[in-house]
Amino acid sequence: MGQKQMEKIYLIPIGEVDGKILEELKSSLKEKFHLEVVIGESLPKPDYAYNRRRRQYHSSPILDNLSRPPKLEERRRAYWVLGVTELDLYVPNLNFIFGQAQMGGRTALISLVRLREEFWRRRPNERLLRERTLKEAVHELGHTFGLEHCSNPKCVMHFSNSLIDTDVKDSWFCPECEKKIRQ
Ligand SMILES: [Zn+2]
Ligand SMILES: [Zn+2]
Repeated sequence: MGQKQMEKIYLIPIGEVDGKILEELKSSLKEKFHLEVVIGESLPKPDYAYNRRRRQYHSSPILDNLSRPPKLEERRRAYWVLGVTELDLYVPNLNFIFGQAQMGGRTALISLVRLREEFWRRRPNERLLRERTLKEAVHELGHTFGLEHCSNPKCVMHFSNSLIDTDVKDSWFCPECEKKIRQ
């Protein structure tokens, strides 16, 4: 029983997040990883991480906060916690990031804002948003499994510098990366 409870991915909305895309991500992750996926209680907008000059949120303290043992008993038992936000994230040396993860840890974070076509002043596209969200989620979870970036442009662990990279890659690990996870 105890073991079973560990094999869960908790999706934690941070700030207001589109419920439909969360539900879709939940069922896709479940299908991909064969794990239980639960949408947990959302966290408030992380004002502590806001950078007024950049008008973006510093992703590292949000990730730290997500990995802190929560009050909720059910989340404490969760094996993986994936924060999902619509806020624009950054780390100091980059203009923006699609997501961040604890290497070999249990916590990851993705932002949907730049995955949306409308962010780039293009027509909204639900299918693209759904695919990109899944790819970024699997990518960040891959880091929690200890995977580093992969040179194969089709591999989900390929680094996305832009949405073009994200759209080119698959939503799953290449055979090399998959082998590493199994070990
Ligand atoms: Zn990465
Ligand atoms: Zn790979």
